[in-house]
Amino acid sequence: MTVTSKGPLCPERQMSPRPYDVAVVGAGVVGTAIARELARHPHLHIALLEASADVGDGTSKANTAILHTGFDAVPGSLEARLVREGQRLLAAYAAESGIPVEPVGALLVAWDDAQLDALPGLLEKAGRNGYDAARIIGADETRAREPHLGPGVLGALDVPGESIICPWTTTLAYATQAVRSGVELHLNTRVETVSSEGGDHLLATSRGALRARFLVNAAGLNADVLDRLVLGAGDFTVTPRRGQLIVFDELARDLVRHILLPVPTALGKGVLVAPTVYGNVLLGPTAEDLDDKEATGTTADGLDGLLTKGRRILPALLDEEVTAVYAGLRAATEHDDYRIRCHKERRYVTVGGIRSTGLTASMAIAAHVAGLIAEADAGLDLEEPVEPAPVHMPNLGEAFPRPYQRADLIATDPAYGTIVCHCERVTRGEIRDALISTVPPASLEGLRRRTRARGGRCQGFYCGAAVRALHEGRGEWGPE
Ligand SMILES: Cc1cc2nc3c(=O)[nH]c(=O)nc-3n(C[C@H](O)[C@H](O)[C@H](O)COP(=O)(O)OP(=O)(O)OC[C@H]3O[C@@H](n4cnc5c(N)ncnc54)[C@H](O)[C@@H]3O)c2cc1C
Repeated sequence: MTVTSKGPLCPERQMSPRPYDVAVVGAGVVGTAIARELARHPHLHIALLEASADVGDGTSKANTAILHTGFDAVPGSLEARLVREGQRLLAAYAAESGIPVEPVGALLVAWDDAQLDALPGLLEKAGRNGYDAARIIGADETRAREPHLGPGVLGALDVPGESIICPWTTTLAYATQAVRSGVELHLNTRVETVSSEGGDHLLATSRGALRARFLVNAAGLNADVLDRLVLGAGDFTVTPRRGQLIVFDELARDLVRHILLPVPTALGKGVLVAPTVYGNVLLGPTAEDLDDKEATGTTADGLDGLLTKGRRILPALLDEEVTAVYAGLRAATEHDDYRIRCHKERRYVTVGGIRSTGLTASMAIAAHVAGLIAEADAGLDLEEPVEPAPVHMPNLGEAFPRPYQRADLIATDPAYGTIVCHCERVTRGEIRDALISTVPPASLEGLRRRTRARGGRCQGFYCGAAVRALHEGRGEWGPE
């Protein structure tokens, strides 16, 4: 199993002695899903290249964590198809690999006559997207199902298939399975230039050069830049669309039973209130088009706007404590659909414009890209795909037993009975497991995404020193 994060990629000659068959650039939820899918072909020599020190460190770490049905996608679009297929694939994969999912369902709430009038159109659109379980419900039923909604509710579209999911475990599960299946994951490896030699791609990276016969661009916000590096010109430009979110304390969880969606606008799905699998409640996101691909900070104006909207949706929410705020950047483009293109003659696939549904669609995007690579007929050995050995990810969700609740586990290993982070009830055993896992964390933030440690209401005020000491002492435990 190969995961590297420092030193030259190939110390001796600064050039991989054996060219990779495929290099995937970007280890977000999309790139890791693609690497995992391609790893089903045991003869392929695959590199997954990530500029950051960890997988899932870009947009994939900061979203609203909803496994969408695709009921509101643009009918007939590639996105509509891949979201629909991706939801089915990821729901099954999550059940098999221990990624927490809760099928809480969504209510798309109408607050005025115009929104109420829009519901039949949305119902009809759901049908055109192959989703037939939605129905319109009246004000009384809406209020009975969500008693804490603010005044003025006129009705809702009930979408029972919408779920909440752990986005962090999803990316990690893909990466773990890919690496265990032979994918070489190179972190801290930014692709800086791409040239062509004998039909191969020569990639100059921040850790030296490598050669690949086929290139997949899953660089998220930078997919347009990489596209231009490879093709000399591109057919889309990424405009980062920031979404700010507020995380409310777990004590707010009883206030909301479903994902409460607004009637969508041209700018996006709008501001929602949703539970998380960790037991918090989210309010957000905003939708702000920016020109800075690193503007992941929150703003006072953005958060104030969310609080104003939240007060109308669920007034009691604003009496609860805020645990954290964060922002993510959607890779929006000038197009209404994903930009997934195979440039056969260049042995290159662009996976661009994966905006607000990439978590849901990830596995279907991966299967689609694998199909495009097969069609490109680039001489890669794609015979006899095999299913990878299953992964069993640590459970971060509140709907399933956590280690501190499991007497059987504690009896076999007392480390699962020693709580280190009391807000999130994270044990020493879980932290140890994360530190020696196939794709270990590079930082305390990465450790939080693998265990929830320091993610609770004290935000590490009480447990921070203990968690840091365990992180710094990781050598004691050795590799998996
Ligand atoms: C506020 C918000 C809410 C959302 N809500 C949902 C939701 O509820 N459900 C849903 O399904 N989707 C949601 N999404 C969308 C989803 O999060 C994204 O579609 C998905 O994370 C995109 O994944 P990605 O792998 O394409 O991009 P990223 O996660 O950004 O990964 C791209 C990676 O490429 C790396 N990279 C870039 N350039 C280079 C280079 N030159 N060399 C090497 N590496 C490079 C980056 O470091 C990064 O890690 C939301 C997004 C936002 C912002």
